[in-house]
Amino acid sequence: MRIKFGPAGMGPIKEVEETFEKYYKRGIKVCEIPFTYQVYIKKKEDAIRIKKAAEKFGISLSVHAPYWINLNSEDEEKIKASEKRILDSCRAGHWLGVKRVVFHAGFYGKDSKQETYLHIKERIKELQKEIEKNKWDVKLAPETMGKINVFGSVEEISRLVKETECGFCIDFAHILARERKVDFEKLKKLFPQKKWHCHFSGIEYGEKGERHHKITEEKYWRWLFKHLPKNKDITIINESPSPVEDSVLGLRIYNNKNKE
Ligand SMILES: [Zn+2]
Repeated sequence: MRIKFGPAGMGPIKEVEETFEKYYKRGIKVCEIPFTYQVYIKKKEDAIRIKKAAEKFGISLSVHAPYWINLNSEDEEKIKASEKRILDSCRAGHWLGVKRVVFHAGFYGKDSKQETYLHIKERIKELQKEIEKNKWDVKLAPETMGKINVFGSVEEISRLVKETECGFCIDFAHILARERKVDFEKLKKLFPQKKWHCHFSGIEYGEKGERHHKITEEKYWRWLFKHLPKNKDITIINESPSPVEDSVLGLRIYNNKNKE
C-alpha cells in the first residue's frame, strides 16, 4: 500500500513556491486546491506558476469545485450555474495539471433517490462531453457525502463511476457520519480501482449525519490505517481546521507503523 498525504489548501498564490517547499520538507506529496467558495485562480499564468512549483516539489494537485452545486435542482438556471462552477473548476484544473476535480453533486429535494441518481447521471454525461470538447485532461470526481439528505452514498457514487466512467472521492469522515460506521469490505467491492482519491479528517456528527470537520486525532488515524486496503495507491486529503499539521501527523503514524 502506498499512501500520499496532504492538505486541502495551498495559501496565497504569491507564496506558492515557499508553501510547496515547506510541504515538501514535511513529506507532503499531495494538495487539493479548494475552490470551495469560488474558483479563485482565474489567470492561466497563475495556474502555470502553481503547476510548476508543484512539479518542482513533487506535489500532485487536485481541485475541489465550489460548494454551491446542485445538479438535481428543480430550477434549470441553478443547474446551469452549477455546471458552470464545475466547468470553471475543470478549466483551471486543466491549467494546473490536476487529474481530479472533486465536487458535491447535489440534493435529493423532492425526488426519489432513483430519480435523483438518473438526473445527476445525465448532467455528468453532459459535463463529460464538454470536458472532452475542450480537451481538458481532467476527471470529474463526485464525493461521498456526510448528510443523509444529500446525494452521495457510497453505492450512488460507485454506480456513477460504473455507468459514466467518472472518477470518485471517498470521504471516510462523511461515510462515518452518514452510516455510523465505515464498512471497508463493502468499499473494496464498490471501488475495485487501483487508485483511491480520499478525504479524511476528524468529524462531529448527529442524527442527520455530518455537523462539521474537526482535528484528526491520533487514534482516528490508527483506526483508518488498520482498515485501508493494502493493494492500492491512496491519496488522503485532510480537510480538518489544521490540515497541514494533521497530514504530517498521519504521515508520521503511518511511517512508524510500517517500521514496527
Ligand atoms: Zn468535499
